[in-house]
This record gives sequence, C-alpha cells and structure tokens, in this order.
Amino acid sequence: MASIFELISDQKTPPSYKFFSRGKWWQSKSGKLTEIISPVDSSILGRLQVVTKEEIDQAIGDACRGQKEWEKLAVDKRAKILHLAADWVREEEHFLSTLLVKEIGKTIDEAKSEVLRTAEMIDLFAQEVRTLRGETLESDLFPGFEKGKEAIIDRVARGVILAIAPFNYPLNLSASKIAPALVTGNACLLKPPTNGGISALHLVRIFEKAGVPGGVLAALTGSGSEIGDYLVTHSGIEMISFTGSSQVGKSIAQKAGMIPLLFECGGNNPALVLDNANLDLAALEIVKGSFSYSGQRCTAIKYLLATSETMDKLIPKLKKGVKEKVKMGDPRSPRTKMVGPLINLDVAMEIENRIIKAKVNGAKILTGGKREANYLEPTILDNVKPTMEIVKVETFGPVLSLIRVKNINEAIEIINASEYGLQASIFTQDEGTGIALARKIEVGTVQINSSPQRGPDHFPFLGVKASGVGVQGIRYTLEAMTRPKSVVLNKPE
Ligand code: NAP
Repeated sequence: MASIFELISDQKTPPSYKFFSRGKWWQSKSGKLTEIISPVDSSILGRLQVVTKEEIDQAIGDACRGQKEWEKLAVDKRAKILHLAADWVREEEHFLSTLLVKEIGKTIDEAKSEVLRTAEMIDLFAQEVRTLRGETLESDLFPGFEKGKEAIIDRVARGVILAIAPFNYPLNLSASKIAPALVTGNACLLKPPTNGGISALHLVRIFEKAGVPGGVLAALTGSGSEIGDYLVTHSGIEMISFTGSSQVGKSIAQKAGMIPLLFECGGNNPALVLDNANLDLAALEIVKGSFSYSGQRCTAIKYLLATSETMDKLIPKLKKGVKEKVKMGDPRSPRTKMVGPLINLDVAMEIENRIIKAKVNGAKILTGGKREANYLEPTILDNVKPTMEIVKVETFGPVLSLIRVKNINEAIEIINASEYGLQASIFTQDEGTGIALARKIEVGTVQINSSPQRGPDHFPFLGVKASGVGVQGIRYTLEAMTRPKSVVLNKPE
C-alpha cells in the first residue's frame, strides 16, 4: 500500500521535500534547497525548499481567505479533523519516531514518547475546545450603569497565526501550535525548524490527510535567517506563536510590531537541594533532568545549588546515577540511554569551549568533558561560579554545573539574578518549606521533588523574563489563540 507521505517529496535518494501551500505540495521557484544533515552520522537526509517572498505572499493571502470560511465550520467538525490527525500520528508512530531519531538524534524511546505525546495532545485540544465559550455580562455592576446594557461576549479566532517551531521537538512543538490554532478557527502557517523540518512536514501532511482544507494550513520552509524577517513582519500575520532560543525570540518580538505574541524561549533551570532532601531521589531526578535528550530540552536542569556539606553527599550519588542510567552512543542503538549526538558540530564545539573556560577559571570536571565530533560526554562540573559562561547563558547540551552556596538565601539570590525564568526544582522532605521557597523564586513553575518538565499538557506552562511571553497549556493556549468579541446591547428604559 502506498504511504500517505509519498507526495511530499520527489522520492529520490536523498529526497527533496516540497513545501505546502494553498492545499498543494510545491517545489519553490527559488530553485534553492537546504540540506538536512543527520546529527547521528552526518549523512544527508534530504533537502528542504527555500521559499520566495512571492510564495510567502501567496500562502498568506490564501490563508487570510481560507480562514474566513474555516472559522464558520462547526467546532465539532474541526475537532473531528483533529481527532483523525491524532489517530494518523499514532498509526505512523514507527515511521515518525525512526525519522526523529535520524533527523534530530533522539534515542528511540525519546522519539516514541514525542510521537505518542503529540497524538495525546492533539486529542486533548480537540476535547477541550468544546468547553471554550463566551459569556454575557450585565452593566449593573458598575456605578451609574444600573440598567440598560448587556454585553454579549464571544470568543473568536485571531486570524492567521504564524507558528515557528524549534529543532528539539519538531513534531510536538509544531502540533502544540497547529492544533489549537486550527481548532479555534484560525489559519496556521508553520515555519518549521531547519533540522526537524522533514519531521514537521510529515506532520503537516497528516493534518492535510485528516481533512484540513487547502489554504488553512501551510508549511513554508527555508532557514530562519533567510525567510524569518519577511514572515514575522508580514502584514497578513495576526499572531506569532514561537518556540526557540531567547535570542531569536527577542529579535522577533522587536520586529513583529503590535500583534499578540505567545513565546516559549530558553530555559536555564536550577535545582536547589536542601539539606533535608531525600538525596537518592534528588540525584535520580537531577541525572534524568540534566541528561535526557543530551540536555537539549528547554526544561533540562542546568545547574544545581546546595551547601558544601550536602553537595559532598550528593556527588557520589550523581556519579553513580550517570554511570548506571546514562549511556552515550548512537541513538539508533537500544543500548544508548539519554545521551546521543548534539544537533550539530558547531554547538558541540561551543559547549566544549565553555567547559574548558570554566575549568581554566577554577571549575573541576567530575565526570565527562570529552567530545568526539558532535558527541559530548555527559559532564558534571563542580565549583562553578554563577558568573561563568557555562551557567550564565543556556548551555544546550549534556552539562550539569554544581554551585556551592553558603545558605538558601544565597541560592535564591543566584536563581533570581538569572536572565531566565522558566522552571526550577526544589528537593526537600519538608513540603511547607518547599512551597514557601517556591514562592520566592522568579520562574514560571517550581517543581518540588521532581526535575523540571513541561506537562502534563493541561497544566500552565510559561516562562518569565527571557524565557517567554504568555501562557501555554491546553486551555491556556486555546484562550491565547482566540480573543473576546463584544457586542453591547443597549436596552430601552
Ligand atoms: P532557535 O535557533 O531560536 O530557532 C527556533 C526557530 O526559530 C527555528 O524554526 C528557526 O529556524 C527559527 N528562526 C531562527 N531565526 C529566525 C528569525 N530571524 N526569524 C524567524 N524565525 C527564526 O532555537 P532552536 O535551536 O531551534 O531550539 C532550541 C532553543 O529553543 C533553546 O533555547 C530551547 O531552550 C528553546 N526551547 C524552548 C522551549 C520552551 O518551551 N520554553 C521548548 C523547546 C525549545 P531555523 O531552524 O531555520 O534557523
């Protein structure tokens, strides 16, 4: 039986993938292609089109027109299309997870988990949208308006939403934008990441196959530096939903102008281990939190704060955890656990340089530290100072920095001085103290006795400071992608 994905590429080896616009798959008139190199073995996996400005204009024009009709379709019908898309994702689980392993270097288990979670999330958006509704308000609450006014407030779509996804969850973080945008009656234009773009195009094909009409969904490929500015400043775009680094997020926010932004940006998440913590639990969670998917997760733990006494007790447990639970290697091998390749050689070399600089400035490598091509060993550094680059900016790789503090107050000061504010973990056996401290920490979410994580997906997920704008989560995203539309009825006396 023919694959549902056949029409999205030219079927050569390696294939050139088409972009999706106006209900069809196209080769760009630019004639330009970007090579997608596998981080696993540096082979060419395929090529993506670099779309032209004219092709962007056509896609956005069509999306503006298509959205008006799409918005009129019953919510039930839109939700059913999403459920079907979720079923297709499950049906293609093996294909999609194998592709993720090759394209972004996830281990097989991590890739499967991304695929299945994507299907669950699409279903949940389709369920939750049924409960999204407007309200009516009477004017008599406000002095002087005792009688006479009634506001009928609907929740309506925003229009054409530009969705920009990062390389590290190309399926999940494309679906977390496409699904809520479409089910609430918006049109959605996806700008997939360069690495991860092939996986994202397959997801778009699934939404098409599930019945999303032509024009309402588009996938425009090309690197952020080539097509990004034109997209984010386009007058037809009515909202931007972006996930990626703080640096790119800030630059998009400056250019985008007065439209709603929903941004998930970089994280640089601390774990604070109190003297009364269960250290076995803390070590296990910290190892998992730091090294899963080679530390290339916005919610990865990047640094650990504890008093010297607690740190000395924790270190042997962390080393044991790394030895037993982490195995660096080819992500296609079931023996590999947590650490595979970094997304490219430049990133791996940059992180290696940060490790060297930290060492020169007094940090001590407890484990790891070595690099071969774009494979970097899981690394733990002791005696790290908060001013060192390795912890000052997000280090998107398998590195955990240990910062020894005099007391809890010093730890909180260090955390709150960070430019980031996504998540933090506190490990303690005294929940009351944990909650009290959590309230002092300036981040979107504090986890008590667990590593940071996104989800379950109906929980609010947000970053403060350089870590984001707005709130995500099933209900929160649906609300963000709609707006109130108010009609005020002025009643006769
Ligand atoms: P990135 O380099 O910032 O890229 C993110 C997306 O933006 C990609 O699609 C990229 O396209 C695009 N882009 C780049 N320059 C652009 C421009 N000038 N205009 C418009 N789009 C542009 O991030 P990444 O390396 O893919 O992902 C890792 C980062 O994402 C980390 O910082 C991580 O913490 C963050 N992240 C955050 C969350 C969260 O929930 N807070 C979740 C996942 C990841 P190209 O790939 O074509 O350059």
